[in-house]
Amino acid sequence: MALENLSGIRQRTTVRKAEREKHEKWTFLELRNFIEYKAKLAGVLVLLVDPRNTSRQCSVCGYTDKGNRKIQETFSCLACEHTENADFNASKKILLLGLPSISL
Ligand SMILES: [Zn+2]
Repeated sequence: MALENLSGIRQRTTVRKAEREKHEKWTFLELRNFIEYKAKLAGVLVLLVDPRNTSRQCSVCGYTDKGNRKIQETFSCLACEHTENADFNASKKILLLGLPSISL
């Protein structure tokens, strides 16, 4: 299992005031700790990967561009025209980033 290492994300991003309260109820560290705890019980390795460009990089060809996310919920690669849900594309990138660290 691979997770984005979101340490310090609050310092790197801005959130509207209305969203801030909702985000502060469950911190990324609490979520990460919970996932790591449950994964350890199940014998699953959890890897932390660099979150930079996971939402802007194509999971098919690797092309990275801010323009790949013209619409928030849709990823559409400017290079190879691969199009899918943006969260699904990003989750595949996170998985691919974690794979080299796993020895089978
Ligand atoms: Zn592409």
